Amino acid sequence: MKSDIQIAQEAKMLPIMEVAKKAGIPEESVELYGNYKAKLTHELFETVKDKKNGKLVLVTATNPTPAGEGKTTITVGLGQALCKLGQNAIIALREPSLGPCMGIKGGAAGGGYAQVVPMEDINLHFTGDIHAIGVANNLLASMIDNHIHQGNALNIDARTLTWKRCVDLNDRALRDIVVGLGGVLNGVPREDGFMITVASEIMAILCLATDLVDLKERIGNIIVGYTYEGNPVTARDLNAQGAMAAMLKDAIKPNLVQTLENTPVVMHGGPFANIAHGCNSVRATNLALKLGDVVVTEAGFGADLGAEKFFDIKCRKAGLKPDAVVLVTTIRALKYNGGVAKEDLKEENVEALTKGIANLQKHIENIHKFGVPVIVTLNQFITDTDAEIAYVKESCEALGCDFAPATVWEHGGEGGLQLAEKVMDVLENKTSNFHYLYEDELSIEEKIRTIATEIYGAANIHIEPNAKKAIAKINSLGLSHLPVCMAKNQYSLSDDPKALGRPEGFTTTIREIRISAGAGFIVALTGSVMTMPGLPKKPAAEAIDIDAKGTITGLF
Ligand code: ADP
Ligand code: MG
Repeated sequence: MKSDIQIAQEAKMLPIMEVAKKAGIPEESVELYGNYKAKLTHELFETVKDKKNGKLVLVTATNPTPAGEGKTTITVGLGQALCKLGQNAIIALREPSLGPCMGIKGGAAGGGYAQVVPMEDINLHFTGDIHAIGVANNLLASMIDNHIHQGNALNIDARTLTWKRCVDLNDRALRDIVVGLGGVLNGVPREDGFMITVASEIMAILCLATDLVDLKERIGNIIVGYTYEGNPVTARDLNAQGAMAAMLKDAIKPNLVQTLENTPVVMHGGPFANIAHGCNSVRATNLALKLGDVVVTEAGFGADLGAEKFFDIKCRKAGLKPDAVVLVTTIRALKYNGGVAKEDLKEENVEALTKGIANLQKHIENIHKFGVPVIVTLNQFITDTDAEIAYVKESCEALGCDFAPATVWEHGGEGGLQLAEKVMDVLENKTSNFHYLYEDELSIEEKIRTIATEIYGAANIHIEPNAKKAIAKINSLGLSHLPVCMAKNQYSLSDDPKALGRPEGFTTTIREIRISAGAGFIVALTGSVMTMPGLPKKPAAEAIDIDAKGTITGLF
């Protein structure tokens, strides 16, 4: 079996200008970054603005195993398969972060014969967007500390500062630090910390901003901390928004790349799926909808987090209306949800599947709550047995749900033809009555309750005292109309990662509430969320290498 990077390096890529041509993008709208990557200009948005939107298909998944269940792989494979069927399909995806790439996950541009290329470039720096975001984030941090050093005219209470510095690596030593040590010339000492760049609010803002003016406005709205009187201090109060937006002048332009089968991919932005909303930029999706007849996109984590936030945050902010959902599941995830230990997932176990299927059922019901038609796909692994595959198919049919298996990892677009046909059938014959789960007017507490009871299946919610205080602050700031971005573990529908399957009767506990006033959402944390991950005992970085010719190995 070839590794992902071997397959990627054998790809017959088209010059990116030809991919652009395929997508109907005029040459003058393409800014080349070498031969196989490009950025798409602001003018392109003007050129295509009167075109009719294509259909929007969201790829999401059941609760995963720690290995990931192949949402990106299916997204890419489905896009390739739709093109094989003669459809004008475009894929919209997130950009990978260097942290997980050097840590455990390896690359994040699909897998097997369903990948986005050039794989090494995409995983290592790409077109520099994430670095630009990091520097914009750190400019604000430096302006905060400088303001305090220069006399603190705004009367900032440094103990309330929530704005952190960032770097796009897993570096646990930077989680909690002290800055400003070394005497009067070196600033005012205070506790600080780093987060990974993709967790920065700047990333979330870049992904929700519709244009440069909106970007600057949102950056200005960022609350970095409070004054001694308890009033919010914003990036605008520090006059930072102009320079920060200027630093993002290229990062805000969507990137164009291609799949192994030359399907156009707009790849842009990559916010965390816990403290942020976890999907590619609104600008990338909007552009893809103008360029393609069918747009396939992905949301992070399982459907309880990714799809809910895609619908309630991204679609609400951008006025998007998804036409269909592809719900990815795997035999191993269903067995895991049925109580099988990680080590034993490769052995046939239909008994465990009959328990784990409850997780799939719940996600199907959940997506129906948003009024969008669902197609379940089984991302097939070579270890799956016929009896197991047959069981999942029968279960979906018994639930009246459209089903198609997919072998895109093994066979590329060819292995996704059944799924692509099913998707086209749904797009042509079923209507989406998409609506949000809750309205803006609901209180923050009621929004959280609605998500927890309707989507997670909780019996109740409990909001801890500190979080209650934060909600009172949000109300006093007039921000209670904002949607809620839930930060929860991705393994269970509940806030206990070990409660697999379809847990019931539990209470969802909210431990902390944060305000992302620039991005325009309230983050509700059910547990401690790591915004600066650490490296594992044997980091993926140890296996990555480059030879004299510049060929990279070990990215998987
Ligand atoms: P997600 O987007 O859900 O996190 P990915 O598509 O990134 O998942 O896949 C996670 C990992 O699993 C990747 O390394 C990918 O190559 C691998 N993978 C995905 N589908 C399959 C499959 N059908 N068989 C074997 N490996 C797979
Ligand atoms: Mg993915």
